[in-house]
Amino acid sequence: MEGYAPPASLEKEDVICQRCFKLRNYNELQPVSLSGDDFLAILNGIGEKQGLIVKVVDIFDFNGSWINGLHRFVGKKDILLIGNKADILPKAINPQRVKNWMKAEAAKLGLKPIDVLLVSAVKGNGMSEALDAIEKYRKGKDVYVVGCTNVGKSTFINRIVKDATGMQDVITTSYFPGTTLDVVEIPLDDGKMLMDTPGIINDHQMAHHLDPHDLKLITPKKELKPKVYQLNAEQTLFIGGLARFDFIQGGRSSFNIYAANGLPVHRTKLENADELYKNHLGDMLSPPGPASIEKLPSLVRHEFSIKEAKTDLVISGLGWITLQHANVKVAVHAPKGVNVEVRPSLI
Ligand code: GDP
Repeated sequence: MEGYAPPASLEKEDVICQRCFKLRNYNELQPVSLSGDDFLAILNGIGEKQGLIVKVVDIFDFNGSWINGLHRFVGKKDILLIGNKADILPKAINPQRVKNWMKAEAAKLGLKPIDVLLVSAVKGNGMSEALDAIEKYRKGKDVYVVGCTNVGKSTFINRIVKDATGMQDVITTSYFPGTTLDVVEIPLDDGKMLMDTPGIINDHQMAHHLDPHDLKLITPKKELKPKVYQLNAEQTLFIGGLARFDFIQGGRSSFNIYAANGLPVHRTKLENADELYKNHLGDMLSPPGPASIEKLPSLVRHEFSIKEAKTDLVISGLGWITLQHANVKVAVHAPKGVNVEVRPSLI
């Protein structure tokens, strides 16, 4: 009958609204970002607990999304490493190579994850595997999700809340013992909790040196397409004004830049590069635009003698450059604090 809503459908409506309410409510309950002592307090809080640690990193900013000192607080707990933003990896990349690289980087930083997974929290790829892994590795214990700001931790958590439709209980907040730090608790079906800890601000993240407009420009949104350059020795490429790549020595060679598709790249002679940067940072060499230019730390030069063909130079938070040929000498200039690393090419 028109205009009549049966009680059953009303109930159904109610269930949906509850869910929406929870999601909306959840967003409001989002823990704040913190740094310094607060961050240490939270890690100390976790240190005393039992359970599984789920560490979310941005695979485009692995070093920037690493929590310094995390290994000291993990203790004997297992740590599951989740690499987020897999949707922007070029399709030609072998995911296993990405995972191997993540494992190697984690080992360098003193951690041995029980497992490494790739997900796209935005697209949902790999999320059911991630949930299964959490369930498997937590062994009936609580779960602590940790991550730096901007790695996609909120997106990840919101998707867990959304996907786990069986969840009936209301999400709550609690405090870590001895602190006033908000932790969002999501009940698991055996009475244990999945705890979302506040995002941690890392000073060495490129993201913190940029204003929102510039951050948007350097954040890849779609699958990365390489920009390919054939260079002779003594040529330089500027990636916006945020990084500079010098080809110092070696035969004519091909270099592929993987960075946000809209980020402009400028080629110049090595001998002119200093002058160009001095005169054109913020206009021709941008981002940084006018609002970020003051905040951006000065560039630091990192020199590499590369022996192997197909090597990546990774500029944390910006992207990477694949060197196709062996036996080249190059330098990368990146803002002070921003990590530059060498890895075997992912393709
Ligand atoms: P949080 O600070 O760690 O909680 O991160 P957010 O969830 O707020 O996400 C930070 C930024 O990363 C936002 O611009 C998101 O749109 C983006 N982001 C999050 N997850 C993904 C993902 O799976 N893929 C891509 N491409 N971007 C993501």
